[in-house]
Amino acid sequence: MARRDPPPEHGGTPPGGPQPGQKLAGIGVSPGVAIGHAYILERGEVHFPKRHVTPAELDAELVRLERALELSAVQLEEIADGLSGPLAEDNALMLRAHVLMVRDPTLVEAARRAIREEKINAEWAVRRACTGVKAAFDGMADEYFRERQHDIDFVEKRVLRNLMGHQTDVPETLPADAVVVAHELSPADMMTLARMKLLGFATEVGGPTSHTAIVARALNIPAVVAVPHVSEAVGTGDLLIVDGSRGEILVQPSRMVLARYRGIRKQFELAREELATLRDAPAVTLDGVTVRLTANIELHDEVEQALVSGAEGVGLYRTEYLFLHHRRPPTVAEHAESYSQVARELAGRRAVIRTYDLGGDKILPGSATGADRNALGLRAIRLAFREPALMLDQMDGILRATAEGPLSIMLPMVGSVEELRQARGMLELVKQRLRREGVAFDADIPLGLMIELPSAVWMADLLARECAFFSIGTNDLIQYTLGVDRQDGEVAHLYAPLHPAILRSIHHTVTAAHDAGIKVSMCGEMATEPAYVGVLLGLGLDELSMPAMAIPRIKHTIRHWRRADAVRVAAECLQCATTAEVSAVLTAAQPEVDMHPLAPKASMRGASQA
Ligand code: PEP
Ligand code: MG
Repeated sequence: MARRDPPPEHGGTPPGGPQPGQKLAGIGVSPGVAIGHAYILERGEVHFPKRHVTPAELDAELVRLERALELSAVQLEEIADGLSGPLAEDNALMLRAHVLMVRDPTLVEAARRAIREEKINAEWAVRRACTGVKAAFDGMADEYFRERQHDIDFVEKRVLRNLMGHQTDVPETLPADAVVVAHELSPADMMTLARMKLLGFATEVGGPTSHTAIVARALNIPAVVAVPHVSEAVGTGDLLIVDGSRGEILVQPSRMVLARYRGIRKQFELAREELATLRDAPAVTLDGVTVRLTANIELHDEVEQALVSGAEGVGLYRTEYLFLHHRRPPTVAEHAESYSQVARELAGRRAVIRTYDLGGDKILPGSATGADRNALGLRAIRLAFREPALMLDQMDGILRATAEGPLSIMLPMVGSVEELRQARGMLELVKQRLRREGVAFDADIPLGLMIELPSAVWMADLLARECAFFSIGTNDLIQYTLGVDRQDGEVAHLYAPLHPAILRSIHHTVTAAHDAGIKVSMCGEMATEPAYVGVLLGLGLDELSMPAMAIPRIKHTIRHWRRADAVRVAAECLQCATTAEVSAVLTAAQPEVDMHPLAPKASMRGASQA
């Protein structure tokens, strides 16, 4: 990979490349500083620079075009040759049709002409030529011709990526100091990347509570999302700083800036080590009230990190990542093995296993299961009812794993008592099956549910009578209560955890649960923000569950509050008419807690703008 060294403080701009020292703003979703070399992952629309070439550059541009076309044809032929299994012949045929398009004289000549006559770069010329060919099919109602337009798109993107030296797929390995830059990263991409050593990432889309952001926080990877045009502004090999705390990307920083950020990174490491000394201290307020702190995990191998951070158990295991990891629904044995591993490592501490929450932004590649991207569509528990076999297998695996330690089952996106009863019916069915088989399991396994929908909030008193615990999923509760898509950077400013409607929903839920004698946890990202600790304590949450790395900081904050003050503050907040008023009450009541620089200034957008 071609690398450019950091330019001097007032270095010149490389032709066509990013401005040295350029700062790009986005939303910081995982705090910390990463310094490394950019690695562009092409995961969406291909963005390319449009520029005019000088007469002296014409020949070189034509050669670039020929090389990219040839490379594309060879790649397509190689893929076609390597195909086997069902539909291999059909797919190979399609790929060979694409090879013919890449070599199509009309298309190739149109691109060459654009370079020669209009003096534009090869990328722009390819776009022109392909648009021209597609226009010929415009207005043809025939399905066949519409499909050909898609084929041309496909070919165009491959040629453009080859021209720009971009990667088409998530690679098997990454360079040692890679900072990934992409239009977007899906949770499945993150699963692959998480296995490699990536230092940080920046994407053009995404919001603070998108699952990619959650995984980044869980894995301690500094990340900034919603950075407009970052994959155009940055080239593979550019030196980059990702400041996940401020939500900034610094491209080709000067030596001075680089030195400053190395210092900040060091400070971060020291602060983290300092907070880690709190591991064995209790999460207790100044007036002696203890709050249970647990970890959210996405992969079973995160338990070790959770314990190191001082987690008292696992408050949320997002098991859909097991599906994404296998790229198919896991077998009963695979379910059982994963949950057994969690239980064994927790050595007697409880883990809450959430049944799979596919759909929305967690899509199983190549499967109809959970393929609904609509947040209001067929996701989570709804999907489990549509495909009961998957849910029954998962419950079977969970029950078998109870032999290794205490586990609870938690249902996502429940909106009615009927759904809770239906899920309980399925659990009873599996229990009967295991009894018949003579398998040992915990027959009293607690069955709880997530409060993520306004309907669940309003039914909380009745739901509480029929389940063992609640956990408030604020990521979705905020999305559905305020009508703000949690993945959409455009409306991130409206995503306000301190909105009075959210505080009132939490208050209503906690009151209903406590009246029925059950406990309430919060496992949404709202629980990770130190500025919210006071109001959450005051609202009476029994447990806070969060990514392991957030635990020391939250514990540190809890130890600075008096529960009596928190109750007073929460009561005041519940009377506020606006988010700004709530924020002002909290700011005024905040005890002095020194935790710079770990406070993620922009990780929860609602915090800073509130
Ligand atoms: C939530 O919605 O707050 C939650 C914890 O679930 P997820 O983020 O996995 O949707
Ligand atoms: Mg949720």
